[in-house]
Amino acid sequence: MGSLVAPVFIYAVMIICKEPKLTDAQLAEVQQIVAEFGCTIQVIVGAHRCVYAILGDEQHELMFNRLHGLDYVDRVDRIQSPYKLMDRRGQLATHTASIGSWEMGKGTLYIAGPCTVDPKNPQALFETAHALKEIGVHVLRGGVWKPRTIPYAFQGDVKSLELMVEARAQTGLPLNIEVMDSEQLDLAIDARVDMLQVGTRNALNYSLLKDIGRKTQGRKICVLLKRGRHMAPIDEFIAASEYIVANGNPNVFLCPRGTVPEVQGLRNHPDESIIPLLKDKTWAPVVYDPSHAVGRSAFVPQAALASIVYGADGICVECHIKPSEGIGDDPKQAITPQRMQKLMADIAHVRQVL
Ligand code: PEP
Ligand code: MN
Repeated sequence: MGSLVAPVFIYAVMIICKEPKLTDAQLAEVQQIVAEFGCTIQVIVGAHRCVYAILGDEQHELMFNRLHGLDYVDRVDRIQSPYKLMDRRGQLATHTASIGSWEMGKGTLYIAGPCTVDPKNPQALFETAHALKEIGVHVLRGGVWKPRTIPYAFQGDVKSLELMVEARAQTGLPLNIEVMDSEQLDLAIDARVDMLQVGTRNALNYSLLKDIGRKTQGRKICVLLKRGRHMAPIDEFIAASEYIVANGNPNVFLCPRGTVPEVQGLRNHPDESIIPLLKDKTWAPVVYDPSHAVGRSAFVPQAALASIVYGADGICVECHIKPSEGIGDDPKQAITPQRMQKLMADIAHVRQVL
């Protein structure tokens, strides 16, 4: 993994000046600034103007700021990707993500299970897990520790971790469990959780992202990074995943799940339309979460199908054997395993015409 920390620099940064060409004195000043950061200038002579490419390790923020500050410089364009490792043109592009029996490029990845594991009703989890296994789901999700908007709402229970481990033992399904801090992360790693989820609220928690990358380095643990509900720019989402990869774990899955402002009547603003952008910019699998995007079980299948049309590699769906008896989001947005089975068949049909 050493090479991940010192990635190859493949793209250029260009200085565009206000006049068609820098004077000799201005060029000398620019050269001196970049030289302080170990870089050189390559002059690209066009028909009407010159452009000045910076060669070398051109990531220094201070160098950018000093160049921006020159009154004869119009702008400094980073043609280079800010996320070198996640970039589709980067050195990790040949990395093949996989989890359990699923491998990138070989069919749709199905992650499903309850929003929240109810420690008082283990049977519901086990029945859900068996039903999902039977219909061909690849990964069992289930919230152990829950990030709840209201502090008085059920916050999850560490006992549910054992129940998830038991569900895996019974079905053989790998587990997806959200972690929100390093203590939970340690417990999840000890329990050999197969896929760690970083939820929407922690999508920009760089300390947690770094911690996850470091502690899972060299282990076959995947990370499902949800898109922050307030995370507007696509680059910010991808750059957040870069933290995990740059700290040692390339097994990252990107998961759009809706953003603010919500569409009236839905839980969030469904964002499946960003999937082609993510696929265009990165090599990582994109797993759409229709459940949190729309927040209503009746609309989940349509949102899931839309995401497939947009190019999703998989979906992560809240499923419960009896949603009305579930807790957390399950009563309002979980679908049954039977409905999931129909959705999977519909997805197979849609895939045939794509
Ligand atoms: C969840 O998966 O149950 C969850 C809380 O997701 P999100 O972080 O997307 O809200
Ligand atoms: Mn949920």
